[in-house]
Amino acid sequence: MDYSRFTDGNAVNWYESDFTMKRYVQRYLSPTLQKWGEDQLAHMGAYAAGPMDERARHTDREGAPKLLRYDRLGNEINEVWYNEGYRATVAEGFRSGVVGWRYRKDVPEPVPFFFTQLLHMLMSGAETGFTCPVTLTMAVAFVIEKFGSEEQKAKYLPRLAAMEPENLLQGATFLTEIEGGSDVGAIQTRAVKDGDRWLLTGEKWFASNCDADLSITLARVSDVPGTKGLGLFLMPRILENGVKNRIAIRRLKDKLGVRAVASGELELREAEAELIGEPEKGFKYMAEALNISRMCTATGSLAMSRRAFLEAAIHTFRRSAFGNTLKDYPMVQQTLLDMMTDIEAGWALAAQMMLGMDRCHTEGQETVEEITRLRLLLSMAKYRLSENSVLHAKQALELFGGNGYIEEFVTPRLLRDAQVSTVWEGPSNIMALEVLKILAREAAHGSGESILFTEMKKTLSEVDRPELVDVAQCIEQERKELFLDTRYLLSADERVQNAHARTLMDKLTDVYTGIQLLKEAQVDLAESKDERLARIAEYYVDRTFRPNVHSIRSKSIPVDDLFEQVVCGFQEAPIH
Ligand SMILES: Cc1cc2nc3c(=O)[nH]c(=O)nc-3n(C[C@H](O)[C@H](O)[C@H](O)COP(=O)(O)OP(=O)(O)OC[C@H]3O[C@@H](n4cnc5c(N)ncnc54)[C@H](O)[C@@H]3O)c2cc1C
Repeated sequence: MDYSRFTDGNAVNWYESDFTMKRYVQRYLSPTLQKWGEDQLAHMGAYAAGPMDERARHTDREGAPKLLRYDRLGNEINEVWYNEGYRATVAEGFRSGVVGWRYRKDVPEPVPFFFTQLLHMLMSGAETGFTCPVTLTMAVAFVIEKFGSEEQKAKYLPRLAAMEPENLLQGATFLTEIEGGSDVGAIQTRAVKDGDRWLLTGEKWFASNCDADLSITLARVSDVPGTKGLGLFLMPRILENGVKNRIAIRRLKDKLGVRAVASGELELREAEAELIGEPEKGFKYMAEALNISRMCTATGSLAMSRRAFLEAAIHTFRRSAFGNTLKDYPMVQQTLLDMMTDIEAGWALAAQMMLGMDRCHTEGQETVEEITRLRLLLSMAKYRLSENSVLHAKQALELFGGNGYIEEFVTPRLLRDAQVSTVWEGPSNIMALEVLKILAREAAHGSGESILFTEMKKTLSEVDRPELVDVAQCIEQERKELFLDTRYLLSADERVQNAHARTLMDKLTDVYTGIQLLKEAQVDLAESKDERLARIAEYYVDRTFRPNVHSIRSKSIPVDDLFEQVVCGFQEAPIH
């Protein structure tokens, strides 16, 4: 692909030009859903690259939401003002079915998360501020779908899933308090039963989409300390009698990025709410909401990496310095090659996460093993892809030179938006501890090895193409080392575990992702004799596990071999 044909990322359709996404559509969506959904993806690819991105720029710079706490007579109204463009983005975004398709009957077959996440990704390339409310609405719907009473499902699900803006209820998830976000057990907000409703009193320190129509809110129902005493509540903004619920928005956060979403501090003053499920199971229910938001953070981050790559590729194919086009310098090629390798590896990991989500929650195979595997994958993907998106946004910014630092270009916004992904929905350290906790639980329950290790061993044993055997052997060695490291760490004391949790997380994610890349590469070799993914898998393994292959004295320059095929080896995308 000759990226110099485009003026910038807005000149291409983000679906039509993303051959990695298209490959995964063909591989993992049923033919029926491909036929039904491809036009929708192409439409969103054009829309996100066009009007949505233009509005996102405006919202970020001039049109951020504003708190209207009082009306002109001094009455407390607690409303949030949004600019017109953002409102249009909200309407079009939800109209796409990104939340709704899962709950609709007028579809050819049940629509998996795998499809709605593609819509989410296309939007995330433009406006992660908006995809936050999308994610939160999806999470609230999912919790009601799984744990709500029949009455709650009938009352709320059709409206959370509505694709017409006039019927839509937007969702939000309120956990974090000033005492702690990761430490959910520190929550102080209290819930007191009052007839058949509950009254919630306390403060929420971070509340994104703070004026949402319906939130799920954690509050303490008993004096049992920690997460055990927490219940989960549905808290509407407007009560059934049309009066506003007693929720004050103290102020909006002045944030580094994702400025389109109103993240506020809330005061709940005996706010009315209804309980979901059983009183002391709130944390368990909220964990399912977190699974949705971690999945969306992971895929949204991958989309930001893709945007960073696209902008960087276009710029470096057009800009000259010292008499050469930037893209002809090996150092520049190396950065683009690394970005693309990370994106392909990210897809191999994210695909397993999305498929795992569907296996458990769309296809009804919610076994203990599948749930365990899914939780591991969600943490790994959220961790790896969010960290990568920050790196890629920074790399794109640098490749733009001075312009990259200037707000008229997308790179500063990308970097600012990407940075939140490593923090919200569980910071990176917490993701690493989560993985360790799950592995420990598996070990304690007597399963000889983690389900992920069994899967890795099996997948590797099925890699038999001669082109991949050497690479597979290298990963197998790493897998064995990883197994020993894991066993050691699980038997170590808490301090040692904490010290090494992130190293283990990195290693586990590196090895698992490499194996998935090999699996995908083998499919391409077998089905279309396409070697591109095999070359990427080999480079990924060399870069990660045997850096000497490309050391200075190795006399090998990886881009000489790989740049054309990996970075440019696609058919031309149409100008949009
Ligand atoms: C823009 C934005 C929007 C948000 N929106 C919402 C929302 O809508 N709803 C909501 O409930 N929350 C929201 N949050 C809160 C967010 O989820 C929390 O900030 C996040 O979970 C981290 O919690 P914390 O801020 O209390 O940090 P802490 O938990 O205090 O963590 C601080 C640092 O310490 C590290 N750390 C903590 N414990 C350990 C440990 N045991 N070992 C090693 N390291 C550790 C963490 O990794 C982190 O790096 C939002 C945050 C932001 C920035």
